[in-house]
Amino acid sequence: MLGHVKFDCNRRDILQGGLLLGVAAILGGCEGGGQRADAPDVAWPDQTKPRIANPTPTAAPSNPVISGGSPRGVIPRSAWTNASPNMRVAKPMNGVTRITIHHDAMNSQGVTSQSAVARRLAGIRADHVGRKDPSTGAGWVDIGYHYIVDPAGRVWQGRPVSIEGAHVAKSNDHNLGIMVMGNFDEQQPTREALESLASFVAAQMRLYRVGVSRVYTHQELKPTACPGRNLQRTMLALRSSSGRLARA
Ligand SMILES: [Zn+2]
Repeated sequence: MLGHVKFDCNRRDILQGGLLLGVAAILGGCEGGGQRADAPDVAWPDQTKPRIANPTPTAAPSNPVISGGSPRGVIPRSAWTNASPNMRVAKPMNGVTRITIHHDAMNSQGVTSQSAVARRLAGIRADHVGRKDPSTGAGWVDIGYHYIVDPAGRVWQGRPVSIEGAHVAKSNDHNLGIMVMGNFDEQQPTREALESLASFVAAQMRLYRVGVSRVYTHQELKPTACPGRNLQRTMLALRSSSGRLARA
């Protein structure tokens, strides 16, 4: 089944979105090749929820909702982008009730310096905002994930938690998206990344009062290889009765 699941990875998301361009790139990334720097693991945002009633103009960097508000120890988005999310088409999060773990399906070996990670995040964001959301006719609001864990174990702020992410097709509502950089079908997560992921997810579970049964991996919600077999195995262990997330 794994082969079938892998083949199906992201294809459904793409077809749902009506986006045919970039299919080869996405499938390439999903199949574990990981050579494409422009093939992050993504999903179309939920199209059923209402838009924010009173759209906020594109926010200035000083807006704390946009530029600040990241938990202690998290590198703010201002460290990797000057751009603001497109709040005209953003949907409010209105609370977090579940958490979903991803990889970006691109090999992250050697991506350790802060500047290299910042460039990669900017590239993923550029790819995401370049995709058209058929429900709005506009590009994506921002990078799809709320937080990113890099191979050195740093946690980066992605899309502000105040707005819904774009990381699980039709299941983005109240869903905190956390991505670990790498392709974990072909590489192992670093010890630093796993340590950081475990403690950060545990902290988010406590913050939002999310139980371990509401902590998912992408493939547990949709047919996809994400977050790769090696990170999937780790997540199973972390959530097991003796795992750190079970005791969060
Ligand atoms: Zn994913």
